[in-house]
Amino acid sequence: MAIDLAEFANVKNVKYFMISYTDLFGGQRAKLVPAQAIGAMQHEGAGFAGFSTYLDLTPAHPDMLAVPDTSAVIQLPWKRDVAWVPGNLMMDGKTVDQAPRNVLNRLIKTAASEGMHVKTGIEAEFFLLTPEGDKISDEYDTATKPCYDQQAIMRRYDVIAEICDYMLELGWGPYQNDHEDANGQFEMNWEFDDVLATADKHSFFKFMTKSVAEKHGLKATFMPKPIEGLTGNGCHAHISVWDAPGDKSKTNVFADSQKDLGLSDKGLNFLGGIMKHASAMAAITNPTVNSYKRINAPRTMSGATWAPNTVTWSGNNRTHMVRVPGPGRFELRLPDGAANPYLLQAVILAAGLDGVRTNADPGKRYDIDMYAEGHKVRGGPKLPLNMLDAIREFDKNKGLKKALGDEFSNAYVKLKMKEWNSFSSHFSVWEKENTIDI
Ligand SMILES: [Mg+2]
Repeated sequence: MAIDLAEFANVKNVKYFMISYTDLFGGQRAKLVPAQAIGAMQHEGAGFAGFSTYLDLTPAHPDMLAVPDTSAVIQLPWKRDVAWVPGNLMMDGKTVDQAPRNVLNRLIKTAASEGMHVKTGIEAEFFLLTPEGDKISDEYDTATKPCYDQQAIMRRYDVIAEICDYMLELGWGPYQNDHEDANGQFEMNWEFDDVLATADKHSFFKFMTKSVAEKHGLKATFMPKPIEGLTGNGCHAHISVWDAPGDKSKTNVFADSQKDLGLSDKGLNFLGGIMKHASAMAAITNPTVNSYKRINAPRTMSGATWAPNTVTWSGNNRTHMVRVPGPGRFELRLPDGAANPYLLQAVILAAGLDGVRTNADPGKRYDIDMYAEGHKVRGGPKLPLNMLDAIREFDKNKGLKKALGDEFSNAYVKLKMKEWNSFSSHFSVWEKENTIDI
């Protein structure tokens, strides 16, 4: 529902609007626009030089405009003078097709035209570090098995409760917070929603968590593996498909009480699409060099990585890439904290819709402990071992690239290859230590 931003400013005493967009690498970019100037900007958009961010544009391109999606505006609970509003990118009167929020919007329309309305909930894990980002901020948080540590979460009560209070105020329906499996790691859960709403909330959650942590003299990070030897930051996604969007949805089309695990044929086909495209999806769900220190990781100090290395699925068993924790939904455990909030949802839609269209079979269900018995799995493909393998898997997956759009897919592969080349030309301490005496 469109909102008049000038009126919103009047009613809420907002002085500035932060018109924000997310680039291909997940960076959130914004302009602060005084409320007096928002009237025209609401319709025309705020101007940016697209080349300056990761969108595969050149300095010769005309101005790029972020046109606010006013229905998604949020007054910052920790700085009420300011309101954040995500924008859709336009250029020369046309949609910038490679922009993540536009990619997602296009896939939502396609899904709706096929009678599917995807809803997801995400679990965006994060660490609270010292401001320099090199150490866990709580020097007493040293347990070998720190998951659900009661003392440790209370030592960070001021930060966690402040964020949770804001989510309550925003009406997101937060329902639990905990200390996670790594020292210094936390997770906060709120209700699932339509994929665009979840992507906007995911973006805002990262912004809010980093901002509140900074206020308390800390640094929050969603980096997939910020500390060697400890469990990494996942961003698990719980997926279901409904008959209608938002409050209109009545029937979960993934639910079927007659079926094994309560997952309908459509749910299994959607899952089949995810299984079929998983290795290529990794380029988006696990988009950084560091992501591959989380998946494929050796056991951590706590005893498990909580991250998959093989494309397998199961019932309520956390050692697999996909788990069906209850009827009518499944949990994709592949994504990590670096996943772009919009592209994460977009690639779930792209893979899942293909699965439904092609009646994809998710393959054999494994009910084994993958950490102990993973070697027994026959035919379950291994996930990419590094970012380069993932980009190559993505680049050769013509169907997934087409579903996400050629403009996006070409731009993404190009920029990610550039990033990989920058990484591999970087001279590391490891190679010197291991090569100097050869
Ligand atoms: Mg978790």
